[in-house]
Amino acid sequence: MANEMKNIRLVGRKGNERTIVKVGKARVGEGFTVIAGPCSVESEDQLLQTARAVKEAGADMLRGGAFKPRTSPYAFQGLGLKGLKLLEKARDETGLPIVTEIVDAKHLQWVCAHADVLQIGARNMQNFALLQEVGKAGKPVLLKRGMHSTIEEWLNCAEYILAEGNPDVILCERGIRTFEPYTRNTLDLSAVPAVQELTHLPVIVDPSHSTGRPSLIPPMSLAAVAGGSDGLIVEVHRNPKEALSDAEQQLTPVQFADMMKKIRALERFMASKQMG
Ligand code: PEP
Ligand code: MN
Repeated sequence: MANEMKNIRLVGRKGNERTIVKVGKARVGEGFTVIAGPCSVESEDQLLQTARAVKEAGADMLRGGAFKPRTSPYAFQGLGLKGLKLLEKARDETGLPIVTEIVDAKHLQWVCAHADVLQIGARNMQNFALLQEVGKAGKPVLLKRGMHSTIEEWLNCAEYILAEGNPDVILCERGIRTFEPYTRNTLDLSAVPAVQELTHLPVIVDPSHSTGRPSLIPPMSLAAVAGGSDGLIVEVHRNPKEALSDAEQQLTPVQFADMMKKIRALERFMASKQMG
């Protein structure tokens, strides 16, 4: 099975080995890691209030975009360097490691100076020059699946990063485009066990961008736990209605805390039945 895709030389699984990506106290690939936070960093109060809430609810890392890849050039593009500095402030206060997107290699020094994990978004999954740069940066990379990409294309993108000498890649299934318009994308949950068969890398699920609907996020998150995902990255905003990006899909802190209780309970149940 592992050799079905010939060119995933470094990413392909050879035996039972699994990569564990260490980020601060978090160990992605061991247990279930939850990354939560707003779509975009908007202000100090917005970020810090959300960061405190997700920490309190048991998140392991904080997400937040400072450079946003927006469909429209007129939409909020992120706070840039100011946003990165706010993320660092949130890490100093909460202790949560920071995950943030990099959209252009020219921002590499800034992003590396302030963040713990470099996110490559769906739109940049096949930006091969950017993949090579993050492969040389010495920081863990969260590689989202492109919305039009096959599993093989996605794993080849991870190969670009490992080929530059960076073994710390976390894969993220964030939904693919299908003919179904009710959800923002279609969550391909089967990609999780598929890439676990094919590779040694940890894989997490993004229930926010895949469904685009807060009501669908808790059930899909629980499905991710049951399906053996190594974690989640989920959008949470102190007041989603006021969000400058993805207002319609972010969870409130209360919704997130409620979901976390269910996730941790399901994890405990699975561990007690040795189903993990
Ligand atoms: C994001 O995580 O903020 C984001 C833009 O996600 P994606 O690249 O999956 O669309
Ligand atoms: Mn978003």
